[in-house]
Amino acid sequence: MTHYPYVIVGGGMTADAAARALRETDPSGAVCLISAERHPPYARPPLSKGLWKGEPESGIWRGTESAGVALRLSRRITGIDTQRRTVTDERGDAVTYGKLLLATGGTPRRLPLESEQMIYFRTYDDYRRLRALANERLRFAVLGGGFIGSEIAAALRMAGRDVVMLVPEDGLGARVFPADLSHALVDYYREQGVEVRTGEGLAGLTPRGGKVVLRTTGGQDVPVDVVVAGLGIQPNVVLAEQAGLRVENGIVVDEGLQTSVPGIYAAGDVANFFNPALGARMRVEHEDNANTMGAAAGRAMAGQGAPYTHLPFFYSDLFALGYEAVGELDPRYDIVADWKQPFREGVVYYLRDGRVRGVLLWNTWGQVDAARALIALPGPVSADALKGRLPA
Ligand SMILES: Cc1cc2nc3c(=O)[nH]c(=O)nc-3n(C[C@H](O)[C@H](O)[C@H](O)COP(=O)(O)OP(=O)(O)OC[C@H]3O[C@@H](n4cnc5c(N)ncnc54)[C@H](O)[C@@H]3O)c2cc1C
Repeated sequence: MTHYPYVIVGGGMTADAAARALRETDPSGAVCLISAERHPPYARPPLSKGLWKGEPESGIWRGTESAGVALRLSRRITGIDTQRRTVTDERGDAVTYGKLLLATGGTPRRLPLESEQMIYFRTYDDYRRLRALANERLRFAVLGGGFIGSEIAAALRMAGRDVVMLVPEDGLGARVFPADLSHALVDYYREQGVEVRTGEGLAGLTPRGGKVVLRTTGGQDVPVDVVVAGLGIQPNVVLAEQAGLRVENGIVVDEGLQTSVPGIYAAGDVANFFNPALGARMRVEHEDNANTMGAAAGRAMAGQGAPYTHLPFFYSDLFALGYEAVGELDPRYDIVADWKQPFREGVVYYLRDGRVRGVLLWNTWGQVDAARALIALPGPVSADALKGRLPA
């Protein structure tokens, strides 16, 4: 059985960042990265953005293999033996580890309704499939008005395709944006030619002559050729649970990113960590966290750990609009909106008990660190004091 001082389970951006940090921090310690995907690590955000706007596919690859990391691809780890320090894949092959990182990310939420025309969008292979279909004059349904649904609907529309969105909430991004912005975004999508059906989810699905007819919760039939689901993800925690690690909305880690079992770490979309600025535990499904936390986990595994205090930011592009955001974007909080141009350019603050918990920088750039500083303030801030604070 091969032994590696460092083993990483997962083949996403977190795994790549950890592998690189390990190589830098401990050049003599061999690193093995084991991924269920058949491709080496790549950036996911361009799959729903840049690649649809002409960016080359060659730009997504992380080049992990040339960083001196042993890659085992198309291998799904099915068991961890914490006593013997081994991980075993579905073919029965095992390696032993000194330190282990779980960077297993998340899997798209699925519906009980299955169809060959349904794509649960997450991977490069999903992108390739959808991209090939988008070259044909087909009609696409997008389920969900969150991050992935909104981005994919925009991408397909920009490719000139007919797109209908089924959005159970009454606006787009309704779980993160205040109601007025979420409604304005629906208008904006309609102006771009997307048919947005708010307040309607999927109730049923019937294949019919190569197409599929969606029955909406409003009782309407919507015939389409392809359905893309963007219904969020579930963290891949089964391995951790089976190994007896503490799991609670993700794999629970301490400030040094170690799980409840010494020598095993977790990072990225799958990890539940404490953020001191917010004074709360959180699990973040975004790129900045994958990169930063992955690298921090790598350094920690190599003995150069430091408390993970980073408050990650996230971003998205929606046609010509774009944003960056930090902290908790909970539309149930008190909202202070500071628009330079309503719903086109400005800053939205999310306050709880007078303290800033989240900041949405809408078509406003270069203010992420200033937004982090506001969230770190120990006391309340008045709405007046926030106006004009972060210039667009
Ligand atoms: C289309 C798309 C667009 C996005 N756009 C943005 C954006 O604009 N901004 C932003 O901030 N974030 C964005 N994100 C989110 C960001 O990409 C994720 O936060 C990031 O990819 C998480 O990385 P991860 O490595 O933690 O998890 P994942 O990317 O989920 O990777 C997990 C890896 O582990 C592997 N794996 C799981 N279980 C096992 C096992 N048992 N054995 C072996 N391998 C296993 C999986 O196959 C996968 O390779 C986007 C995500 C997607 C899908």
